Amino acid sequence: MDEAKDIHNFCASCLRCKEVCPAGINIPDLILSIREEVVEKNKSAVLDLLVDGFLKKDTRFNSLMKLGAYAGKVVSPGGNFPLFLTRKFAGQKYIPAISTKSLSDRYIQSSIKKISNKRVLFFPGCLVEYIFPEIGEKIIKFLEKCSYQPILLDKYGCCGGPAHHTGKKNAFIEIARSNFSKIKAIDPDFIVSPCPTCTEVIKKRYGEVLPEAKDYLYKRTFDYCQFIFETGFQNIETRFDCIATYHDPCHLRRGLGITDEPRQIIKKLGFQLVEMDEYDACCGMAGAFSLKLPKISEEIMKKKLSKAEKTCAKNLITACPGCLLQLRGGAKALGKDIDVKHLAELVE
Ligand code: SF4
Ligand code: SF4
Repeated sequence: MDEAKDIHNFCASCLRCKEVCPAGINIPDLILSIREEVVEKNKSAVLDLLVDGFLKKDTRFNSLMKLGAYAGKVVSPGGNFPLFLTRKFAGQKYIPAISTKSLSDRYIQSSIKKISNKRVLFFPGCLVEYIFPEIGEKIIKFLEKCSYQPILLDKYGCCGGPAHHTGKKNAFIEIARSNFSKIKAIDPDFIVSPCPTCTEVIKKRYGEVLPEAKDYLYKRTFDYCQFIFETGFQNIETRFDCIATYHDPCHLRRGLGITDEPRQIIKKLGFQLVEMDEYDACCGMAGAFSLKLPKISEEIMKKKLSKAEKTCAKNLITACPGCLLQLRGGAKALGKDIDVKHLAELVE
């Protein structure tokens, strides 16, 4: 166990080894249990403060993000933090400022008109809630176009993904329990998220620690791509006529098994899809991994961008806000002539 103390940090939780093990051994889950033991035995003040002090407490987390948004306004007038401030811990990519108007500030449930009995609880995930709220706005509009009733929580907290992936099991159970009780109080027909990590955590991981949540969440939780492919495909406007390439987010492809749906949506939008080499390789973001190992994360990101460039596509599309943050920020910092988008930004 002593030898495993540091090595688990090199795992980006990309789930690739799960695909290739001929004996079907779930290696990522084995690594996660090692991490849980290591984290339990070797307390980290920073991780404890972040997870127990903020991510577990919705109101505090929200206030921290608000504070960050106003502080960010001062140091990031162009919308991104200056590279010299973030490069050391985030690698060579621009980090966007936190929005001063989060998604739930922009959309108050009472302001959404009643249009349907098919109720979709929208779970944006913290990146869409605080950094890319315009993606959430697009999705809410598209859900309405497809005659679904979007439901928003008054305040969003973390889905528990960071606690789960960093091995903070007890904190994860608390977050899962709290979110599940909020979901049950609403009792939606569907739960939809544009963040595959949130979707996977809510759909599959809550049930591992809360047996009473297992079937309930598994059958009604969907990633955005799967949901609109199955229920709103005919409503997608064909608006583009150029080449695009697609990066498979690890947790969408290997965590949820969604591979064809985003590609079909890209084609329906009018793009000519040209696959890059290793389209399914991790982008290097991987949550805490990119903060713990920014140099390695940066190298993985550069590889991914150069593979995308080789397709001659001017549009690199993905379906995860984490991949978007990594690849868009990296493309800008490296001066690449490629526009990186979350699929939901393009669908109308
Ligand atoms: S980085 Fe990916 S392939 Fe390597 S051990 Fe972790 S999950 Fe498996
Ligand atoms: S998994 Fe990541 S993006 Fe999703 S809510 Fe949690 S912290 Fe935010």
